[in-house]
Amino acid sequence: MKLSQSFTKTMKTAPADETSVSAKYLLRAGYIYKEMAGVYDFLPLGMRTLEKIVQIIREEIDAIGGEELRMTGLQPKDAWVASGRWNDDVLDVWFKTKLNAGGELGLATTHEEAFTRLMKTFISSYKDLPIYVYQFQTKFRNELRAKSGIMRTREFLMKDLYSFSENREQHEEFYELVVKTYLKIFDRLGIGDSTFRTFASGGSFSKYSDEFQTLCDSGEDIIYLDRDKNIAINEEVYNPETLAQLGLNEKNLEKCKAAEVGNIFTLGYRYSDTLDLCFNDRDGKRQKVFMGSYGIGPSRVMGVIAERLSDNKGLIWPEEIAPYKYYLVGIGEEGAKKAAELYAKAPDNIILDDRINARTGEKFADADLMGIPYRVVVSDKTLAEEKVEFKNRKTSETKLLTLNEFISKLS
Ligand code: ATP
Ligand code: MG
Repeated sequence: MKLSQSFTKTMKTAPADETSVSAKYLLRAGYIYKEMAGVYDFLPLGMRTLEKIVQIIREEIDAIGGEELRMTGLQPKDAWVASGRWNDDVLDVWFKTKLNAGGELGLATTHEEAFTRLMKTFISSYKDLPIYVYQFQTKFRNELRAKSGIMRTREFLMKDLYSFSENREQHEEFYELVVKTYLKIFDRLGIGDSTFRTFASGGSFSKYSDEFQTLCDSGEDIIYLDRDKNIAINEEVYNPETLAQLGLNEKNLEKCKAAEVGNIFTLGYRYSDTLDLCFNDRDGKRQKVFMGSYGIGPSRVMGVIAERLSDNKGLIWPEEIAPYKYYLVGIGEEGAKKAAELYAKAPDNIILDDRINARTGEKFADADLMGIPYRVVVSDKTLAEEKVEFKNRKTSETKLLTLNEFISKLS
């Protein structure tokens, strides 16, 4: 990316109504644009970051057998009437609309109904099971209070995975595999040390659901964390009975604020019952399909990472999800020429700050604000030694690398 050719610009200030650190920096650095409360656009830098998060999730879900597809965000009323969730008293975040041709639609808040109905076409025998399907798709929720920038919005991206199993046993094996996979995903996303499996309220088919909560001051949940055991309890199920069941001791628990980045549920027969999703079992008997659902919000995750990993100068992206790895600045005529040459070797990894009308100090400030992992400076002075100055955004450690050392990093 050449900054001289990019339409986005960094800003000195963020809108006054934005209070969270992540929202302020993401807006100022040009990752997102605010359309209205709880509604944001992802600009080129933001889209790249979001897509890197999506790709990490995709790789890990594919590795446990997930099949990716994409469903529509428009949902027919009848499926939701059948499941009992069309009513605004049951689901209070609906955006509903009418078809000009007649009939009502809902904009997808979630996709349990849609996936269950889809599977009626494809599941008939135990031989078809288990099935694991997922998507990255837009959800619309008429949230009463949008909060903390992209952490709680009215339109957001969700990775939603659904499992269809013969019975509870088959379901539970996959469920535990997803728990492990989620922890691995959050590790790769750079928030593994601060994200915990958290027991939360379940439904009629399991005592608990599992949330994945990341410690975060602007989070909306309160959890009780056992650091030695690496698990937590959401305050909604924090009581003597839960403590005993999970073998936790009140004395070892820390009360923390956290943000829910993922949530997994044993749905059981909740939807196969109401929408009549059945299969013929090994004895030829008709049985209901046993289901689970597994969500992660990549856009909220991006906000939470920005919230946790930043300093007074700006964002600090982990290498795996930074939109670009290097921020390259050429100083002086020779420096600028060399910088352009280096950029051409790996344009997909580098932001080249080749703006003519920006001072070096401004360029450095923008590099910090954008949170690019490494700032690389080429000047007449460094070139005299055939070197570049290489600065780590996270540690501020600065060193000189030979041109060849830097070039070998690029390949
Ligand atoms: P919350 O309790 O925060 O309202 P939820 O329990 O309703 O979320 P789910 O329906 O389980 O959320 O959605 C799965 C994931 O989608 C969540 O873990 C979160 O990462 C993300 N998510 C949910 N609501 C929003 C939102 N309004 N904006 C951004 N991401 C969201
Ligand atoms: Mg939740």
